[in-house]
Amino acid sequence: MKIIDAHAHIGYIGGWADVGITGEELIAQMDRFEIEKTVLCNEDNDITLDMMKRYPGRMIGAVYVNPMNTATVDFMEKYFDLGFKAVKLNPLRHAYCADSEALDPVLEKAQAAGVPVCIHSGHPPYSLPWQIGLLAERHPKVKVMMIHMGHGHGVYIDAALKMARRYSNIWLEMSGMPMPSKIREAYETVGKDRIMFGTDTPFHDPSVELQKVLVSGVEEAGIQRVLYDNAAMFFEIK
Ligand SMILES: [Zn+2]
Repeated sequence: MKIIDAHAHIGYIGGWADVGITGEELIAQMDRFEIEKTVLCNEDNDITLDMMKRYPGRMIGAVYVNPMNTATVDFMEKYFDLGFKAVKLNPLRHAYCADSEALDPVLEKAQAAGVPVCIHSGHPPYSLPWQIGLLAERHPKVKVMMIHMGHGHGVYIDAALKMARRYSNIWLEMSGMPMPSKIREAYETVGKDRIMFGTDTPFHDPSVELQKVLVSGVEEAGIQRVLYDNAAMFFEIK
């Protein structure tokens, strides 16, 4: 079984979360669960860059951008040039609405670079699936990964599926989302190629996240798509 983790963090996340993982611990965890590659982010993009350099072939960098801080938008290209293959946005962390026009320059730059955008979902009033739907609607040429596919609330999870069915440029990532049956529903009604595995390390444990895919009821051939192939296609990993 080949695995790509489509969403993970490196470092310590304080405050209410109080979770963390070092680079060495992340690699050990990847080896333990046979995770070949991890899409990695940190608010300090140079920390992600350091991981990419230390573990070539295993780390896919996602540039962490805060649209409220235009300096972070200005240096997006610099990180694309350094090999980052995605953009990471977290409306909850930086207190902006996912459907805000403030995100347009970020998505325009992502489009120009041909890079997908990964955006946290599931927390009102900032990151609800309908807001991400409006964002994806304005930027139909940008591939948008809805991290957590609505997260912990059943109504939001249902909305994530509805938005992904409506907008063909939305992909879903299942970390932190508690309902295995919704992985199967996404696979069957959104698309076999538009639902992917992630851990959101260090917030969640790979053993739990993997189990959700395995018991989801996704057809046998689909497990490999969810765990590897779909992320490989989405992030254009060769
Ligand atoms: Zn995350």
